[in-house]
Amino acid sequence: MTRPDPHDRDIPDAGTPQPSRIVIIGAGHGGAQLAASLVEEGHPGTVTLISAEDDAPYHKPPLSKSFMKAPDTPLQPLRGRTFFIDKGIDMRLGAEVTSIDCRGRRVLLADGSEIPYDRLVLATGTRARRLAVPGVEQEGVFHLRTAGDARAMRRALPESGRVVVIGGGFIGLEAAAMLAARGLSVEVLEVAPHLLRRAVSRQVADAVTAYLEGQGIGIRCGVCVDSLGGEGRVTSVRLEDGPELQADMVVVGIGAVPEVALAEASGLACDNGIVTDALLTTSDPAICAIGDCISYPQAQLGRMARLESVQNATDQARALAKTLTGKPTPYGALPWFWSDIGALKLQIAGLAHDADEDVVVQRADGALQSVYRLSQGRLVAVETLNSAGEHMLARRLIAKGITPDREVMASGDMAALKAAYAAARARRGEARRD
Ligand code: NAP
Repeated sequence: MTRPDPHDRDIPDAGTPQPSRIVIIGAGHGGAQLAASLVEEGHPGTVTLISAEDDAPYHKPPLSKSFMKAPDTPLQPLRGRTFFIDKGIDMRLGAEVTSIDCRGRRVLLADGSEIPYDRLVLATGTRARRLAVPGVEQEGVFHLRTAGDARAMRRALPESGRVVVIGGGFIGLEAAAMLAARGLSVEVLEVAPHLLRRAVSRQVADAVTAYLEGQGIGIRCGVCVDSLGGEGRVTSVRLEDGPELQADMVVVGIGAVPEVALAEASGLACDNGIVTDALLTTSDPAICAIGDCISYPQAQLGRMARLESVQNATDQARALAKTLTGKPTPYGALPWFWSDIGALKLQIAGLAHDADEDVVVQRADGALQSVYRLSQGRLVAVETLNSAGEHMLARRLIAKGITPDREVMASGDMAALKAAYAAARARRGEARRD
């Protein structure tokens, strides 16, 4: 006798309107947006939003920057204080889901209670990857991900003078610039040969490095941390084959790991994240998933991918809200990213995973303005530094599949780029509405 498949049940298509109970696990950018969008889309049933955190949904990007500026800077709420109550959303804060009963369609919480669902959405996000070296569990070592992490680090700032930042990614560099601006001595350690290796072109990485060094920040690439010194409180960072760096604070930003424990324990397909289809449905038709924790068919790349960004989470939430209210909406938005590293606004439109050619734009003073990234002659991504209008136009170019002539891209001239965009659309007979 074959065992019944817990996911093999009679469930209507994802797009069928349901007077249903929708339960969302995770109240980050994706989960909170989904709750709000379900209300906006006229979901006729109930919405329950569960978060293990005690804080009402808040903006994560300021945590490594403006939130650190003063000891009493408040979190920036994602919605007004009473939004979720006014909209009838049942928000459960400080509530930890311990398991999902897929057959019985209910989630079980640590306090012994249970919440039934007709549709469950996993918006569990990521957690900070932990540095695995001796000495990491000491006071003065911070992994930055949640408001709780940021508060703990902020409390320690007044006693800190020398900071070592481990990891030259978005978190590490934003935190390094913020700490240097406060007058702290800052050194960044990156294991890769240069900063932001996975995120941007070499030219942009070099420009960011030069900017940070200009702020007095030490940058060491291609180095491995061996251990952290101290007797309960961190005092130094020891490098493999290198010197021992004095530090009274260590900030770790070495990447994020998708939160898939609940999904795996429930038997959902996972492979570098919870696997979904383009409608954001998992291998159980009653369970959907959105945000940093999912691996989905990425339209621009034409293959499965997992992206970590606010845009990805919120746009997936908007698409899923439509699907769950009877308007099946495959997710296909163009990804974009940004990072405020001190006075540098780095913006990325599109995905450069397959790029094989770069067109570099420099300002009149020689500073880097942008890099146009092509794959087999097709524009796939544009990275800009303090060039917000160009970023917005780049998003439209890539979304429409328009690749201007190389000379036009190399000029970085907005008028010429806009003309190329308009001409390409006119050639296709597309009406201009934007
Ligand atoms: P990240 O952007 O992936 O960068 C981590 C960096 O640390 C990578 O360059 C990585 O190098 C390096 N690294 C890994 N292990 C290391 C080690 N043992 N020693 C030194 N360097 C090491 O991750 P993150 O900066 O930690 O950010 C975490 C999450 O927050 C991500 O989801 C990120 O997108 C998000 N976030 C986003 C923004 C933004 O978009 N503005 C801002 C803050 C945070 P390899 O590439 O070689 O592994």
